[in-house]
Amino acid sequence: MAVRVRFAPSPTGLLHVGALRTALFDFLLARHQGGQNILRIEDTDRSRYSEDSEHEFIESLRWAGITFDEGPHVGGPHVPYRQSERATSGVYVGPVSKLLESGDAYKAFDTTDELAAMRKAQEDAKEPVGYFGGAWRDADPSEVARAEAAGHKYVVRQRIPRGKVIAIDDPIRGHVEWSSDTLDDPVLLKADGMPTYHLAAIVDDHLMGITHVIRGEEWLPSAAKHVLLYRMLGWEIPVIAHCPVILGKDGKKLSKRHGATSVLEYRWEGYLASALNNFIVLIGWSPGDERELLTEQEMIDAFSLEGVQPSPGHFDLDKLKWMSGAHIRLLAADALFDAVKSYLEDPRTIEFWDSREAEPGKPSGHEIAASLTLLRDAIAKDPEYARGVVVLLRERVQTLADFGPGARFFFVDMPEMDPKAVEKWLTQPHVPQLFDSIVQGLDPIAQPTKEDCEALIRGYAEKHGLEKLGPAVHPVRVALTGTTAGPGLFELMELLGRSRIVARLRRAKEIAG
Ligand code: GLU
Repeated sequence: MAVRVRFAPSPTGLLHVGALRTALFDFLLARHQGGQNILRIEDTDRSRYSEDSEHEFIESLRWAGITFDEGPHVGGPHVPYRQSERATSGVYVGPVSKLLESGDAYKAFDTTDELAAMRKAQEDAKEPVGYFGGAWRDADPSEVARAEAAGHKYVVRQRIPRGKVIAIDDPIRGHVEWSSDTLDDPVLLKADGMPTYHLAAIVDDHLMGITHVIRGEEWLPSAAKHVLLYRMLGWEIPVIAHCPVILGKDGKKLSKRHGATSVLEYRWEGYLASALNNFIVLIGWSPGDERELLTEQEMIDAFSLEGVQPSPGHFDLDKLKWMSGAHIRLLAADALFDAVKSYLEDPRTIEFWDSREAEPGKPSGHEIAASLTLLRDAIAKDPEYARGVVVLLRERVQTLADFGPGARFFFVDMPEMDPKAVEKWLTQPHVPQLFDSIVQGLDPIAQPTKEDCEALIRGYAEKHGLEKLGPAVHPVRVALTGTTAGPGLFELMELLGRSRIVARLRRAKEIAG
């Protein structure tokens, strides 16, 4: 039977990295097995559902390259794929009636106050909190009929059998067992007629032919109730797998302190989706060998649920940065240039950086936004030059955003000068003569290549008996870029071209003089 998996988020906020990992595991399993990946929106809690959030989820997943064969945005044989719409179309009515008829579910008329009092009494007595044997579990049918006739509101609860052992074989965690006596009777249908997650997920997983349920470990305690529900309804139980939590590098719950938590934020920060996916998938999963850098196809080929570890995975931002740089360097020049272009063409990129708080020791968000704007405009004006700059800088960046500050000196009329670099390299006595000699040397060469530039600088060093190239290279670099660090000097000279080099050397000579 073909594998059918579903990612079933409840869109109430931003898609965070933990949910992205679940979605990736679904996607990789489906693609590895040649099965289908389904998106189902679990929005039965109408007070928390947000339409904006649903759009954000779908956009994040699309950006991440996670494709779906069925879902609210692509259609499919099981439309609708939003549970609120499924509730309206009546898909949950039959299963609830069946459970009520067989006695596996019952109507409970407790008021909010009564439930609160029960909870308080349980807490005071240090007993497990929940509906274990509330007033309505074993109520007399005539009493139920009377309450219903009087128009009292009720919920439908699952009647958990007593004294049973329930077990699942989770491909990630192995064999897990529960005593049914530890389980309370969950609500299946709310007073407003909406199903709860417990009911809707099981009914939909069955109707949609889901073979594998992959979800976060916070759902592990519910699995026993779900297994019982499948049995009560006489349905086949899918494979149920619970992914470990993702913790920060310090072992604490993942939060803002450890880096962005929402997927789109990584997008605006300039991470390639391929890098974020590679990084996220490896939190808890391993391809079974030492490989760390994996393309999407390599992940698909190697993926299995058995390769997921049950222990918590750690989110290490430094590793993500390293991986991001490595994925940038995996791209061919054209693909990289396209990635930079589309990153900059989305106005949200610049907006994101513009409103970003400054990090100590780094250019401010505003400065990064300005440099990215400069690069974006340069791409529009002179794509060939800008492409050369991007390709030259790719060895030196970790994210797409790094291209902004890195490329800045190529596009401004005159680069800003780092005073320390000026002090160290432009004040030396030979500098004016060095610059003159390069300007003269360039005179007959309309389009100097990197070899021409190297020959000029080496020629100068030899002629003046310099033992090392540094005293010739560094002042030129400072003159052309404003700093002492950057890409290879001869390559950047070839890109800058004669007129920019000459103008910058002349200005630097004035500063030096
Ligand atoms: N709607 C649930 C959530 O947002 C899905 C749990 C599941 O996959 O079964 O976490």
